[in-house]
Amino acid sequence: MKVDVLTLFPSILQAALDESILRIAREKGALDAVLWNPRDFTSDRHRTVDDRPYGGGPGMVMKPDPVVLCAEKARETRGPGRVIVLTPAGRRFTQALAREYAREEHLVLVCGRYEGIDQRVVEVLGAEELSVGDFVLSGGEIAALAVVEAVARLLPGVLGDGESTVEESHESGLVEYPQYTRPPEFRGRAVPEVLLSGDHGRIRDWRRASAVERTRRRDEAEGRGAERPGTEQEQRTAQEEGP
Ligand code: SAM
Repeated sequence: MKVDVLTLFPSILQAALDESILRIAREKGALDAVLWNPRDFTSDRHRTVDDRPYGGGPGMVMKPDPVVLCAEKARETRGPGRVIVLTPAGRRFTQALAREYAREEHLVLVCGRYEGIDQRVVEVLGAEELSVGDFVLSGGEIAALAVVEAVARLLPGVLGDGESTVEESHESGLVEYPQYTRPPEFRGRAVPEVLLSGDHGRIRDWRRASAVERTRRRDEAEGRGAERPGTEQEQRTAQEEGP
C-alpha cells in the first residue's frame, strides 16, 4: 500500500516509520511511505506556509496554495490516492475504518498545524476529514501516525504468524479480554486459575465473558450503554471468575 503524508514536520513521522512494525512493514514491501513538506511548495523568500485568519481571532491558519500544490505533486508522482485531512472536526477514526483504509491502494494524509488548514483545501482536493478522537493535538502528525500504524498492521504479511488481528479490541464490537504472562503470581496477585487449567473450552468461554464484562465497564465509565453486551451466561461467567 502506498501512503503519502503531507507535513511541516516530516522528522516526527520519519522517526516512527523507522521503528518496529512500521519499519518491518516497509522492509517487507507492504507499506511504501513517502513524506512531503508543503513548505517546499512555497514561492516567497520566507517560505511562508501560514497567514492570519479571515474574520480575526487568535493564531494562524495554513495557507491553501502550498498544501494543494504539494498534494497535487504527490498524486502526480504516486498516483491518485484517497485524500484524508486530519482535523478534530472530522469523522472519528475506528477499527472498521482502519480495515476499510487497509483495502485501499493509496492514501494521502494531510497534517495540519496552527489553527488548522484553510477549508478550501478539503474542497479542492475532494478530501475527507478525519479525527482520531475528541481532543486537540498541536498537529496532525501524531494523528496521521495513529492511522498509518492501525492500517499497516492489517496489511497482509505485516504481523507474524502468531499475531492475529482478528481477536483484538474493537474487531467484534468488544474490547479484548485481559492478558497475562509469567510469573503466575505478581505482588500477591494471581493469574486467573482458568488460564492455567489447559482447558481450552473454559479458557475460550472465560475470555469471551471477560471481553463482554470489560466492554460493559468501559461503556459504563463513559456514561454509555444501558444495553449490556453478551449473553446473560457470559455476563455471569465474567462476574464469577473475575478479574
Ligand atoms: N483550531 C482547531 C480546532 O479547534 O478544531 C485545532 C487545530 S490543531 C491545534 C492543529 C492541527 O492538529 C489540526 O489542523 C489537525 O491536523 C491536527 N489535529 C489536532 N487534533 C486532532 C484530532 N483529534 N484528530 C486529527 N487531527 C488533529
